[in-house]
Amino acid sequence: MLKSQQGAAPNVDPGYHLMELPTKVLIGEGVIVKLGEFLKDSAGDRKVVVAAGPNVAVKIRRAIESSLPRQPVWVEVAAADTENGERVMAQAPGSGCIVGVGGGKSVDVGKLAAFRLHLPFYSVPTSASHDGISSPFASLKGLDRPYSLMAKPPVGILADLDIIASAPKRLLASGCGDLISKLTAVKDWQLAHRVTGEYYGSYSANLALMSAELVLKRSRMLGGFGKESVRELVEALISTGVAAGIAGSSRPCSGSEHLFSHYLDMLAPDSGLHGEKCGIGTIMMAKLHGMDWRRVRSSLRNVGAPVEAAQIGVDESQVVESLVKASSIRPDRYTILSRRKLTVRSALTLARSTGVV
Ligand SMILES: [Zn+2]
Repeated sequence: MLKSQQGAAPNVDPGYHLMELPTKVLIGEGVIVKLGEFLKDSAGDRKVVVAAGPNVAVKIRRAIESSLPRQPVWVEVAAADTENGERVMAQAPGSGCIVGVGGGKSVDVGKLAAFRLHLPFYSVPTSASHDGISSPFASLKGLDRPYSLMAKPPVGILADLDIIASAPKRLLASGCGDLISKLTAVKDWQLAHRVTGEYYGSYSANLALMSAELVLKRSRMLGGFGKESVRELVEALISTGVAAGIAGSSRPCSGSEHLFSHYLDMLAPDSGLHGEKCGIGTIMMAKLHGMDWRRVRSSLRNVGAPVEAAQIGVDESQVVESLVKASSIRPDRYTILSRRKLTVRSALTLARSTGVV
């Protein structure tokens, strides 16, 4: 069908795109003590600015400090917003690099601050709850958009499996939700390619799908969150960030299910984690795409991720409004929601028929 018949936004493919990728990843048990060595290429003798969440354990802070040749400048990141980004930027003059230590917020804040100042950024995740640990995207409040901004990927990612495995299981389950969402993100990308002629890269799409299939095919094993499972989860999350770097856009990682999640972020800002909302969105978008949504649902259940809106404190009307309006927050991104144009009635039917409400 022609673009004009579908009501798709024009999406001009320039015929080229830039791939930006992390250059090194250090993953293993107890590797936090190697941070100083890991940063040496960028930091040299200069100071290091560390953006860290308030919950980063004293033990981790001490390990970081003793690995560095000089005392780092700590900036506590309380929220993922532009104000915290500015606080990090204010400490950056004269530094060799910025490091984000924590869950999502400090990594996003540090990444954007480094991008704005053209400084190298290093990601040190303390949990594996989403793919922002490796992706070129930063999601912050106070920007001119409710979805992630294209920045640069981290130069390096240091993933200490001892630290990540000891994070609450809820965070790891949320990471599985962000991984499984690549199933519908890639379907949306394929649909957009057919309808609008938008660039589609099968390599990056397949890389993202491989990560999603880890959850789909091995959810029972993964849900135990033993050391080996955590390693696979972290590697899969890093790979999806790399897939976005290869695609030069968030397409392989973010589709209609992410739009749904971003809309919910606005309606119910304190409800649920990113990966939890994306996982619930994936169940419904999979049904719209004619995929095996029951398998998505049972895989999420097996890893302990929520499959019902009530589990994350979201009510029926918020789910319906997000389904109906999600595509309006990013009209240039053609997805199954652009094609199906849900009404209140059809959105309610979808949410109820998949057990989300
Ligand atoms: Zn995501």
